[in-house]
Amino acid sequence: MLVINSGSSSVKYQLLDMAEADPADGRGAVRLASGVVERIGEGPGADHAEALRRVAGELDAEGLGPDSPGLAAVGHRVVHGGTRFTEPVLITDEVLAGIEELVPLAPLHNPGNIAGITVSRELRPGLPQVAVFDTAFHATIPEHAARYALDTATADAYGVRRYGFHGTSHAYVSRAAAALLGRDPAEVNAIVLHLGNGASASAVAGGICVETSMGLTPLEGLVMGTRSGDLDPAVVFHLARVAGLDTDAIDTLLNKRSGLLGLCGDNDMREIGRRMAEGDHAARLAFEIYVHRLRKYVGAYTAVLGRVDVIAFTAGVGENSAAVREAATRGLEVLGIEVDPVRNALRGSAPRLVSAGSSRVAVAVIPTDEELEIARQTFELVTGADAGQRGGDGPAARPAPRQESP
Ligand code: AMP
Repeated sequence: MLVINSGSSSVKYQLLDMAEADPADGRGAVRLASGVVERIGEGPGADHAEALRRVAGELDAEGLGPDSPGLAAVGHRVVHGGTRFTEPVLITDEVLAGIEELVPLAPLHNPGNIAGITVSRELRPGLPQVAVFDTAFHATIPEHAARYALDTATADAYGVRRYGFHGTSHAYVSRAAAALLGRDPAEVNAIVLHLGNGASASAVAGGICVETSMGLTPLEGLVMGTRSGDLDPAVVFHLARVAGLDTDAIDTLLNKRSGLLGLCGDNDMREIGRRMAEGDHAARLAFEIYVHRLRKYVGAYTAVLGRVDVIAFTAGVGENSAAVREAATRGLEVLGIEVDPVRNALRGSAPRLVSAGSSRVAVAVIPTDEELEIARQTFELVTGADAGQRGGDGPAARPAPRQESP
């Protein structure tokens, strides 16, 4: 399986041998090659084409290129699937047109994904290509959580609702957290905190996502590296009327110049930690705002789930920053959440528990692996593991919530 993550400014790829992989969780997959082509120019097209040809060339040099007979399929990360694509789907012309129709919902992301798919189909026509959507895992969120309290006709006319993102990671991590507890995912309620440069939280009840923090776009929710997360929507009108900023300027401000970067000038948690150690107030305040938001979401999602079995930290910050894990769970003993300082300080690359023995809720660090999850879902689709239930291209593809949130 070749996994391609063709973003707006980079193309990342991994080649995975799934022959010995567990179909349920991908364990046993072997990583044969991986790499990244960075700093691709703005518009999709020629630049993505060139980047992908370079990827193909690098793989060819090792006898693993697009023409090699062992290559069974390509899995593409696609950011926005809207309400139409709620499962991985085999890419046809019609599917590609459907992904293009969603560009207005994800103008920063879907064009790069489309360019990657288009070029990759040209490189070896006939090879199955599968789209795996970042929104898909969140398609089960019940209507009362997915809808904003807006005029219904306007919301429906323009697709304004909460979709959620990072779904591949939330799916993988919630399942791996259950495995770490030695339990069936169907029995485990989890809060997943995906804290990378982008950050999102999800509430997963028995393996089914029932709530997540990102919304129509990845801007909503937690404080992120450069994104504000939640704010009063009237901030936008205020900036337009009083500061005279236009829509694009406000979009850039909230997506690229806010969050940790906007608060203290740094979006890397390592640098913020160093500055805090030197007594830097702006860095300290940025950190406190970041972890305050996290604590609020942990409390809210505890209310959504009713019973929480595990809180799983993942991605760059979640996997590496003991300080964030400690501060995000501080004072939550009332919810049964207690982190063990010694376990929390230990570094490692394997899934592990950092909660105290007395903690009612397990707290875990689970390294995410979105590429493996895309490869696993692609493999499952092309080998027809549960064929018949698939059909992300169908007219009523959004499944009814399989479970009401308690
Ligand atoms: P990701 O988007 O998952 O690659 O996460 C990237 C972010 O992880 C960086 O911007 C850093 O803020 C954070 N990060 C990476 N390594 C560390 C570390 N050792 N300690 C704290 N934060 C880290």
